[in-house]
Amino acid sequence: MRATTTTVRAAAAAVLAASVLAGCGLGGAEKESVAGKDSLVIGVKEDQPALGVKRPDGTYEGFDVDVATYIAGRLGVPKSRITWRTTNSSVREEALAKGTVDMIVATYSITPKRKMKVTFGGPYYVAHQDTFVRADAAAIRDVRDLKDKRICEVTGSNSWRRVIEERKVAAKPVTVDTYGACMDALAAGRLDAVSTDDLILAGFAAGRPGRMINAPFTDEKYGVGLKKGDLKGCEEVNRAITAMYQDGTAERLLKKWFGESGLKLTTSVPQFEGCT
Ligand code: GLU
Repeated sequence: MRATTTTVRAAAAAVLAASVLAGCGLGGAEKESVAGKDSLVIGVKEDQPALGVKRPDGTYEGFDVDVATYIAGRLGVPKSRITWRTTNSSVREEALAKGTVDMIVATYSITPKRKMKVTFGGPYYVAHQDTFVRADAAAIRDVRDLKDKRICEVTGSNSWRRVIEERKVAAKPVTVDTYGACMDALAAGRLDAVSTDDLILAGFAAGRPGRMINAPFTDEKYGVGLKKGDLKGCEEVNRAITAMYQDGTAERLLKKWFGESGLKLTTSVPQFEGCT
């Protein structure tokens, strides 16, 4: 009997050891990583021209879409195995935590607060916050001129905080869901200004009246959002971003989408934040 018990115990131990080796523990964690996946669900914006736009046929285009496609390719996932999902500013952290998306490339600034919930690869670009006004608003020349002005507060976005909380400018926030809605509200006279990343404003400016005041006042480090703890995925994403700059793709994509915008484009690889 004793021999049998020992045998059973030994067999159980062997099964346990084998499952650990096979990666029931480790393998489980790896499946959570974007590294090694054979398909990816990627969150992007759908109403930000030149960055993330959903076309009438349901496909997506823009700088963020191209960057995400390149990174996915380097991770071994071809375009045909990417599912795109519109991911507005208000749902980004939640979408990563719940796993409804594997990765987010959507004008997503790395901030200390977000880093508590999200692992960020990159940045893949550093934008700067600027302000867009109607053509007749000559008095708005600097972020300080937004005092008492109606500015856009996109839910879950950081731009209005940069003005009101960080710069302590007493602007009046008007809440909407997306930057497309901000631009519509500005044109309709329900807002005095839209203050956000220069890349976003440049994308909209191409098709609308009004002007950028050209007074940038922040660094917006665009990160690749990953599920909190996916450090392996983050390292691979950073290798992909480095390659994207070294092989000339970053410069080509920046020129493709923003070459006509008049923005000063940076074509050297940004300093990485480090994966945490
Ligand atoms: N980059 C800013 C942010 O992440 C504004 C744009 C956005 O919300 O997507 O908050």
